Amino acid sequence: MAINDLLVIWDVDGTLLDAKGAGHRALARAIEEVTGKSTSLANMDVAGQSDRLLLELALRRVGKSPRLWETVRAAYEKSLDQELSQHGSDALPGVMEALKILGPARVLGTGNLEVGARLKLRHAGLGAHFQGGGYGDRHRTRAPLIRDAIKVGRRLFGRRLLPVIIGDTPRDAAAARMLHIPVVLVASGRFSVAELRAHGPIVLSGLQDPAAVLGAFTQAEASARRDG
Ligand SMILES: [Mg+2]
Repeated sequence: MAINDLLVIWDVDGTLLDAKGAGHRALARAIEEVTGKSTSLANMDVAGQSDRLLLELALRRVGKSPRLWETVRAAYEKSLDQELSQHGSDALPGVMEALKILGPARVLGTGNLEVGARLKLRHAGLGAHFQGGGYGDRHRTRAPLIRDAIKVGRRLFGRRLLPVIIGDTPRDAAAARMLHIPVVLVASGRFSVAELRAHGPIVLSGLQDPAAVLGAFTQAEASARRDG
């Protein structure tokens, strides 16, 4: 089957799972712990951003140097674990089935810090499904962390695989465009099907319908062959 040739690069928040705001609460708490100043991510454009960039922006907001982000990171990771233990993290509907259909050649491509991604996945019962990926620790924008994910995926699963992104925000689509790879957009996060259609031709309303998932990735695969 065609999709055996794909390396699927999975976004985390809004695509695989819903961490129910744990990341934002943990970030605000970590900033407060380290700087003594309270902040929130309210009216910040966070969807699909890297956590490193968000930590740096939040520090600027309270008048501190973004260089403090490494210090805030440790506090953030501890708070995130506490938040997730308390409120949980839910795998989104259809995710388990989609992982099965799309096969084992998969990596994460996420703006989360690596530790944060692992915590969210573990609390959603998805920890065992991913061996590696590209994360938001080293990059402020999405395209370079997707490049990391491709490198890791090809090392793990084979150099000839065709990368395809699955994500829930216009930033996932923008990264795909920059790297000339296809993207499957899922309206399971904060953007609707209509909003996502403006950013890419392959849009799913969710992952609940296995035939639709298979169809979307078959289409992505054809487009990867055409452009690659
Ligand atoms: Mg997302």
